[in-house]
Amino acid sequence: MLRSELLRRVAMEVAETIKSVRSLVKAAREKGSKIGFVPTMGALHIGHIRLIEKAVKECDFVVVSIFVNPTQFGPGEDFEKYPRPFESDLEICRKAGVDVVFAPSPQEMYKNKNLTWVNVEKLTGPLCGRSRPGYLRGVTTVCAKLFNIVAPDVAYFGQKDAQQAIVIKQMVADLNMPLKIVVCPTVRQADGLAVSSRNKYLSKQQRKDATYIYKSLEKCESLIEAGTTNSKTIIGEMKKILKQVPSIEIEYISIVDAERLQELEKITGKVLVAVAVKIGSARLIDNIVVDADGQ
Ligand code: AMP
Repeated sequence: MLRSELLRRVAMEVAETIKSVRSLVKAAREKGSKIGFVPTMGALHIGHIRLIEKAVKECDFVVVSIFVNPTQFGPGEDFEKYPRPFESDLEICRKAGVDVVFAPSPQEMYKNKNLTWVNVEKLTGPLCGRSRPGYLRGVTTVCAKLFNIVAPDVAYFGQKDAQQAIVIKQMVADLNMPLKIVVCPTVRQADGLAVSSRNKYLSKQQRKDATYIYKSLEKCESLIEAGTTNSKTIIGEMKKILKQVPSIEIEYISIVDAERLQELEKITGKVLVAVAVKIGSARLIDNIVVDADGQ
């Protein structure tokens, strides 16, 4: 390893205040560094690591935020029990070559009563917007705040949360925020299950059951490849797969236009197929994008 790379890995800062992260980023920017940013809620896993690695590769100075954002959790959701393995998260960031971890408290982020919200219309209506009211408004508000605090050139998001990524892109474009959004592919385990911090809530049996989520998406892909264009038929076949597993409670299966997120009766062009289920106490989401015309 080059000495410069080694030093970079050792010298990671942890900033708990807005003031301190701003001054660290300012110093880097004054040196002409390109600033990369990866917002997370911690409990870091290989999905997050892939985003961080891309940021480290493409930028000179990388900030990762670890903040379990209270405003994106609804009443009765898992805000309190969300895993917070802070020490090991820091170690992961250090090893990945992160320059600054920004880990504010909820009080630091929401000092005032927070009467200002960022709300993206239309795109937040379907999918998770329907089943988790307030969730996407919490995400856009916290991301707007984080972008204002960190002032990155590029921010990295995962395709795993497809609707979130689309909504953030729209917000950045609509509000003329001076940064680029990069969306990285969903990282899966060998059996297809999308890696998620919430997989920690699953028992051994539930973990096995969870593989049916991706199986249902694969079935959908093969039906589209075979020329099926009726969404109802496809969703029906996906339901059959998920219903083989008694522990799975389907929240939604939707086939929407991959850009505007509008429900499609007949599949054409690039479609987003998104699934949300509950298995025990874990709410899991996954999706694929299929180009029906490219088949
Ligand atoms: P979270 O900590 O769950 O809020 O996620 C932080 C970022 O990591 C978001 O942009 C997620 O979409 C992304 N992410 C989470 N899981 C994965 C995964 N399995 N593959 C790719 N990106 C992911």
